[in-house]
Amino acid sequence: MTDKQRRQLITFFGAGTVAIPLSALVSTLPAHAEEAPMVDELSMGARNWEYMAVSDKLEKNCSKCALYQGDVHEDAGPCPLFPHMRVSADGWCNAFSPTPS
Ligand code: SF4
Repeated sequence: MTDKQRRQLITFFGAGTVAIPLSALVSTLPAHAEEAPMVDELSMGARNWEYMAVSDKLEKNCSKCALYQGDVHEDAGPCPLFPHMRVSADGWCNAFSPTPS
């Protein structure tokens, strides 16, 4: 996790959007993200966040979310909302937070 990603995560959770201890979220990120399974849209966790693997929101998807931890060259990556799993770079959920420009 880069310093920029860490700052974005702290900014997001500091806003009180989700009340989950930051240390718990960061510790749940997998060491080898490429080995983690993809989030199942039909799972309870995904439905709670209204996650969809392909966003239907214009200009809003996981790759443009401050919480997305994936590499820009990958089509999926970790998100702290779904520990030990990967979200699609083209996905979206209702916790979407735009990356500061
Ligand atoms: S849009 Fe939702 S699932 Fe995608 S990276 Fe952001 S918080 Fe995670």
